[in-house]
Amino acid sequence: SAQEASNGDGRRRPLGRRVLVFPLPFQGHINPMLQLADVLHSRGLAITVLHTRFNALDPALHPQFTFVAVPDGIPADVAASGSVISIILAMNAAMEEPGPVRDALASVLGEKGKPTAACLFIDANLLAVQKAATALGLPTMVLRSASAACFSCFLAYPMLHQNGYLPPKESQLYTPVKELPPLRVRDLFFSSSSNHEMMRKVLARATEAAMNSKALVINTFDALEPAELDRIRRELDGAVVLAVGPLHKLSTRSTGSSLLREDRSCIEWLDTQPTGSVLLYVSFGSLASMDAAELLEVAWGLANSGQPFLWVVRRDLVRGSDGSELPEGFGLAVEGRSKVIQWAPQQEVLAHPSVGGFWTHNGWNSTLESISEGLPMICRPQFADQMMNTRYVEAAWGVGFELEGELKRNKIEEAVRKLMKDAKGVVARERAQELKKKVESCLESGGSSLLAIDKLIGQILSL
Ligand code: UDP
Repeated sequence: SAQEASNGDGRRRPLGRRVLVFPLPFQGHINPMLQLADVLHSRGLAITVLHTRFNALDPALHPQFTFVAVPDGIPADVAASGSVISIILAMNAAMEEPGPVRDALASVLGEKGKPTAACLFIDANLLAVQKAATALGLPTMVLRSASAACFSCFLAYPMLHQNGYLPPKESQLYTPVKELPPLRVRDLFFSSSSNHEMMRKVLARATEAAMNSKALVINTFDALEPAELDRIRRELDGAVVLAVGPLHKLSTRSTGSSLLREDRSCIEWLDTQPTGSVLLYVSFGSLASMDAAELLEVAWGLANSGQPFLWVVRRDLVRGSDGSELPEGFGLAVEGRSKVIQWAPQQEVLAHPSVGGFWTHNGWNSTLESISEGLPMICRPQFADQMMNTRYVEAAWGVGFELEGELKRNKIEEAVRKLMKDAKGVVARERAQELKKKVESCLESGGSSLLAIDKLIGQILSL
């Protein structure tokens, strides 16, 4: 029947239904949304991607999807500020009902000759999109691109205020939050934000978007965050909460969603390096930044460690400069054992046999990608959920440690040695290899994430 995705011969059967997806236009949100879209497409669903002019996607890279542009209403100065929170606020304001999203959705829903739309996947940060869909009678589902722990922290936000953890006091940063182990006050989402009232609103809206949706789909897996998923299920009594990750391992196409051009020459270069997991990969994701003095410290710390490395230095990595200049003499000091590029095909890099460790900012995607390849981490979190992810890496899973305090070359050198050479690094690597096995089991036939995908497809087809 048209409702059957596959009869075991591996061939895709069209299900006669369509799913719309609207990612928040940032790299760490786009990647998992398109990976999910890819998984659903491979199971026979047609996909329409709504995207904004800000960080627009390139439809030519995704011929299997249909694309629809939505006016984002982000003022030029806000877009230029690069502030995620300001952009989220501006988008929600511009998309107030009735507005441009409802019009875009209505035009998609009215298209003749296309399979009927079952639902719209939204990012929890775009409550306005959820409302526009509701106004048109289109059900929504939320994809969370951060951890279950992170969403459970959103749900706990009122409690955290009531119980005196927030706003954080300088003297209490290392106080354990006993309701949310192993977190401490400093690890809480946006504990460093200066505007707590605004944060409270943003998080309450995200919770509302999830509660108004048919399912909450999280890019994590059961064995990684069992207690956190339980907590969410208890809090959202009766809601469908599905752990479908790591999505990049389920999706068949690993490339195509990068906003920056991937420098693939690094893979050829990695091929020339020894295969014994000796190389450190260094990247701070798409948004984290540093000042020029810190860049110098990182450069010399890496050089002085004597370890081979591949380092991603985005053009906008250094704040207030439009090119990230490396110090004089650095190239010569690390010649033959290092490569610096502007953007990497990261998942491929992490899976390369010569790579043995990851110095990361602990964005959730990077954290999951590292775990999936069994790599231990040096953690240097900056904002949002990064501190929380670091805490889990260190205290819950034991697959890495934080490089805390001021960035100084001698501390960096020490951390690199600790990860790549010392006993502490060996233990972290062993634990990471064990976690990798758990990733593999959740993706096997009958594994928790595959079952969750089956359930999700059943849910979509029932709409
Ligand atoms: N990424 C990449 N090349 C790079 C650095 C990062 O492809 O050189 C990808 C990485 O694989 C991940 C995403 O960009 O999927 C970054 O997401 P994450 O949640 O780790 O951090 P964010 O950029 O949102 O802070």
